[in-house]
Amino acid sequence: MTQKIQAVRGMNDVLPSESFRWEYFEGVLRALLADYGYHNIRTPIVESTPLFVRSIGEVTDIVEKEMYTFTDSLNGDSLTLRPEGTAGTLRAVVEHNLLYNTTQRLWYMGPMFRHERPQKGRYRQFHQMGVEALGFAGPDIDAEIVAMTADLWRRLGIDQSVALEINTLGNSNERAAHREALIRYLEQHAECLDEDGKRRLYTNPLRVLDTKNPALQALCNAAPRLIDYLGEASRAHYEGWKALLDGLGIAYTENPRLVRGLDYYNQSVFEWVTTDLGAQGTVCAGGRYDGLIEQLGGKPAPGIGFGMGLERVLLLLEAKGRLPETQGTDVYLVHQGEGSVLYSMRLAQALRTAGIRVVMHCGEGSFKSQMRKADASGAAVAVIVGEDEIRTGTAVVKPLRGGDQEQMDLVRVPEAVQRALAD
Ligand code: ATP
Ligand code: MG
Repeated sequence: MTQKIQAVRGMNDVLPSESFRWEYFEGVLRALLADYGYHNIRTPIVESTPLFVRSIGEVTDIVEKEMYTFTDSLNGDSLTLRPEGTAGTLRAVVEHNLLYNTTQRLWYMGPMFRHERPQKGRYRQFHQMGVEALGFAGPDIDAEIVAMTADLWRRLGIDQSVALEINTLGNSNERAAHREALIRYLEQHAECLDEDGKRRLYTNPLRVLDTKNPALQALCNAAPRLIDYLGEASRAHYEGWKALLDGLGIAYTENPRLVRGLDYYNQSVFEWVTTDLGAQGTVCAGGRYDGLIEQLGGKPAPGIGFGMGLERVLLLLEAKGRLPETQGTDVYLVHQGEGSVLYSMRLAQALRTAGIRVVMHCGEGSFKSQMRKADASGAAVAVIVGEDEIRTGTAVVKPLRGGDQEQMDLVRVPEAVQRALAD
C-alpha cells in the first residue's frame, strides 16, 4: 500500500463531527458584529514580509521566530503567511483609502499561522476573529469594543468563566521615559534574569515583564510602573475608559504588567483571560494602535482592535458545556415504494420552502433501518411516505421524541411539522 500523507503538524482538520460547533460559534459572532455595525473585510492570507516586520515589530516573538516566511520562487519576493490580522487589514485600508473623510468599523475572521510548539490551545494554523475600529480617538470606542466582547461572552453563556484585565501603555514619549527607567532597573538585577530576559533587556524590556517564568515574578512586581510616567492626556484617556466601563457595569482588573506581545500598541490595552484552559488562558486580546496606520504609509489616524483565538473560545465553550450536541435537522424523510423518490423530493422541497430543515433518505433501506437513521440524525420529526400515502396524496408525521403519529393530506404537513417542532 502507498504511504498515507498526513496533515502538517500543528495544523488541524475540522471534521463534520465538530464543524457544526464552529458554525454555531461563528453564527453568534456574525450576529454580534452586525448588531454593533461592524463590516467584514477579507484580505489575503499571504502578504509581503516587510508588512509584518514593520507593524508587529522586529524584536517580537512573532517576527523573531514564529513566522512562516518563504521566497516566491518566481520573482524572489519575501512572502509570509499572516500571523495576525491587523497588519493586513490596515494595509488594505491604506491601499484603498478607506479612511478618506470617514471612519471604519471592521472585522475579519480566518486562519493565522505561527510556528509555535503545538499544544492544547496553541497551534501552527489557528483561527482568529478580530475587530479594528479606525479613525476614533476614544475612549468611547475603547469602551464599545470591550462592551461588545462582554456581550459576546453573555450570548455564549461563558461570562462567568472569563475575566477582563486592562492597562494603559501611554504614548510613545511616555513609554520611552519609562523604558529608560526600566532598563536601568533591570540592569541592576541582570543576574536574576533568564536567557529570554537578558536577550530582551535592551531590545524589548517591557516584554521582560510579560514573562511566564514564575521565578521572575517578584523582580517584575517591583519594577518601575509605566502608569507613573503618564502625562495628563494619557491619564485622562485611561480614566475616561475606566469610567465608561464602570458605568456599563463591566468588571475589570487593572494589570500594570499587561503589555501585549506586539509593538504597535499604545494607550488602552486589554485581555480577556480564563483560568479554565491551563497556560493558554488568553482568549481575546487587543488595544489601541494610534501610530500604526501612519507607520504603514497612511494618513495618521487612531485605531483600536482586538484578536480572539477561536480555538481557545471553543475549548472553553466545550469545557462549560455550552456547545450544541449535533448540527440538528428538523425532519428526516423516510420513504419506500413505487414513485416514492420523486413524491418525497417534492414534499421535502415544500417543507424547506416553509423554513423546515429536511434530510431526505437516499438509497435503499427498509422502513426499520430508515427509522433508525431518522433517530440517529437528531431530527425531531420523521415524515413517512409509503405506497398508501402516495395513492391517497398524504404523508405521516411522526414526532420522534414522544407524541402520536398522524396521517394527513400533503398540504397540511408543513404546519403539522412546525407544531411538532414547537412542542
Ligand atoms: P500568547 O501569549 O498565548 O502566545 P499572543 O499574545 O501571542 O498570545 P495575540 O497575538 O494577541 O496572542 O493573538 C490574539 C489571540 O489569538 C490570543 O489571545 C489567543 O487567543 C490566540 N492565539 C495566539 N496564538 C495562538 C496559537 N498559536 N494557537 C491558538 N490560538 C492562538
Ligand atoms: Mg504568542
